[in-house]
Amino acid sequence: MILILKPNTDHTSHDYRQLTEHLNNLPNVEFRVHQEIGTQQHLTEVYLIGDTKPLDMADMQTLPCVERVVRISEEYRVLGRHQPVDDRATSFEYNGVKFGQDTLNVFAGLCAVDIPEHVEMMMKALQEHGQVCTRMGAYKPRTNPYSFQGHGKDCLPYVFELAGKYGIRVIAMEVTHESHVHEIKEALEATGNPTGVMLQIGTRNTQNFELLKSVGRQQEFPVLLKRGFGITLDESLNAAEYLASEGNRKVIFGLRGMKTNMGDPHRNFVDFSHVPVIHRLTRMPVCIDPSHSVGSRDRSPNGILDVMNVTAQGVIAGANMILVDFHPNPAKALVDGPQALLMKELPHFLEDVAVARKACEERAALAEKYQNA
Ligand code: PEP
Ligand code: MN
Repeated sequence: MILILKPNTDHTSHDYRQLTEHLNNLPNVEFRVHQEIGTQQHLTEVYLIGDTKPLDMADMQTLPCVERVVRISEEYRVLGRHQPVDDRATSFEYNGVKFGQDTLNVFAGLCAVDIPEHVEMMMKALQEHGQVCTRMGAYKPRTNPYSFQGHGKDCLPYVFELAGKYGIRVIAMEVTHESHVHEIKEALEATGNPTGVMLQIGTRNTQNFELLKSVGRQQEFPVLLKRGFGITLDESLNAAEYLASEGNRKVIFGLRGMKTNMGDPHRNFVDFSHVPVIHRLTRMPVCIDPSHSVGSRDRSPNGILDVMNVTAQGVIAGANMILVDFHPNPAKALVDGPQALLMKELPHFLEDVAVARKACEERAALAEKYQNA
């Protein structure tokens, strides 16, 4: 059960003390207080854990400071949507960019950072097209131990400085170890925080619970958690819940296709039909990664790249973030060149996304019209 307290509840007030005293006396129930300090208001949620079944919703509603009571199911306690109506926030802001179930942000960029010139070409093109987010891999989890593993912390200073130069506010960057989070934090501080970072947990680490716990314990950086490629949706959503249970609720859930030959000739079996399912089950914004799903630059007879076709499918279904590989010279890319789009394809890609987004909004309006009819 969650008690949602009235906005700006003062934790030193008499009412708040009365509430906590009452909760302390409930048999076999413990509580955990979660605070969200926003610019406008200060929100408090109290999580009751243990034998909460006998507690009456209406009684709890009358306790001092309580605005609303939500009975949570066992699943996805923090990130899930619960009964009777769970209209708690589905969005957060990071470094001036809003992420929610109603927004859409494109993160086009390099799968892996290789040389400063390519990073700069990418950032410059993004700025020219009004983009403020990108993806840049510095730590790459590779199947083959002898493959390029990413430049690691050495590239961070110039990546961050170039991001600042071209007005990039958020870089999605995979981390595979807790130490990478410290390296990113240090490099951001050393360069004067010219940009922000969204930590990415890749599909291979979806169930690396110790990594999830440590990334969840920090609340400075939001986290993009990719779905595990060979586990159920429920298992991956529980992985996201690990992050939130440790305190970090700024979590975006990423779809990137499932590993099976049933998806051939795509690199992974595209799973973007799950976008609305995740919106329904949880309050997380949903990201799609068409590049790692499709894995090629193949196109259909009408000239549309498969990467763009699946992007449109995900966006029409309501996706809130797109992680997509571009490269100034894919033949020279050190990782995933064959799936990277060309820089000259960026305006086409963005316009195509806008077409799909418009269709998504029109479909939502249509559904509302028929629901209210
Ligand atoms: C990536 O986005 O660079 C990546 C490795 O993705 P995934 O974890 O989905 O394979
Ligand atoms: Mn890649």
